[in-house]
Amino acid sequence: MNIHEYQGKEILNSFGVRIQRGIVAHNAKEAVDAAKELTEQTGTGWHVIKAQVHAGGRGKGGGVKLAKNLKEVEEIAGEIIGMNLVTPQTSAEGKKVHQVLVAEDVYYPGDNEPEEYYMSVLLNRATGRNMIMYSTEGGVDIETVAEKTPHLIFTEEIDPATGLLPFQARRIAFNLGQSGTGFKEMVKFVMALYTAFEKSDSSLFEINPVLKTSDDKILAVDSKVSLDDSALFRHKDYAEMRDVREENATEVEAKEVGLNYVELDGNVGCMVNGAGLAMATMDLIKQAGGEPANFLDVGGTADAKRVEEAFRLILKDDKVEAILVNIFGGIVRCDRVAQGIVDAYKNLGDAINVPIIVRLQGTNADIAKELIDSSGLKIHSAVQFQEAADKVQEVLK
Ligand code: GDP
Ligand code: MN
Repeated sequence: MNIHEYQGKEILNSFGVRIQRGIVAHNAKEAVDAAKELTEQTGTGWHVIKAQVHAGGRGKGGGVKLAKNLKEVEEIAGEIIGMNLVTPQTSAEGKKVHQVLVAEDVYYPGDNEPEEYYMSVLLNRATGRNMIMYSTEGGVDIETVAEKTPHLIFTEEIDPATGLLPFQARRIAFNLGQSGTGFKEMVKFVMALYTAFEKSDSSLFEINPVLKTSDDKILAVDSKVSLDDSALFRHKDYAEMRDVREENATEVEAKEVGLNYVELDGNVGCMVNGAGLAMATMDLIKQAGGEPANFLDVGGTADAKRVEEAFRLILKDDKVEAILVNIFGGIVRCDRVAQGIVDAYKNLGDAINVPIIVRLQGTNADIAKELIDSSGLKIHSAVQFQEAADKVQEVLK
């Protein structure tokens, strides 16, 4: 589950990671109040107004702006709240901004120039260990750094038996060119950051930029935090951070009815039981010259009610030109599934406006095919995998 920058910062702060402080506001007036309160707390006169949406690159899209006084806070907050923010990471329509973070300006002048670094914590799937990825090139697109100057990206792997060790944090601080106060601060920052990652059961932290202020404080200016859904049961307070406005509406609906659905860009909807078969089916669709419009695992009980719900979800997507149902009758009998499909089809009636190909294999597959073929409905039936692929190709033409 992804959360907003301000929520990620709350989690970081609770584990002693220094952050750029801020207060959330939902309208221009709240933003002004937030700025006043922040000035009392921090002494800062300048503020940054930051759009809170689940997408990076907000700065580039005009969603992060500096305000030098309260009048500018009001103007800028008024401008950003309600806008459709388009960034390199959103679709062309952008994302509607419902709230901003009014934050202290941490790029104030001083003895040194502020410096930006990149730091993330994530699982290295190749080794099965967490790692800290970091770079002196902060504030910019890390993908660009990885492409143009890969030698400026460092990694530190963490042994799960010992956790992050102090010498590793010192190595990170050293590689980031720190000395004196900056060095000590960076070690503290890295140790606290890793503790936060482990204790919060996160699957990703990306802090870009980590900032060294002109007076050598190290802090998180930005935060992208993804929490592990499977661990949310032990973090009730984090679970409440979910903002469904930021999620795909159909995916949210699917979750509510217990279906495993992920929307994709293609034109062939698929309904499958079992994640492995779903992956194979998506390959099949590609081979047949289509593109999968979704991943949908209906699970073990493919009864009429579930099949109907699944059809409804898939049909919400205008890009869908055909639907392939691919069910293996192992625990569930094919004839029961076939009956479910026929019933669902009848219930949905005109809502079904694209060709449907059904492939049922396993227990009672022959009875199932008979059931579908004699139903009088416009359903193409198949028994073999290849047969189903050919039918998909046929209807797409
Ligand atoms: P992103 O564009 O979505 O990654 O949002 P960030 O939180 O990383 O902010 C984007 C950029 O805004 C940063 O890289 C900074 O250059 C700038 N920025 C953020 N906070 C401040 C601040 O307090 N003062 C100034 N002057 N610039 C800031
Ligand atoms: Mn950023």
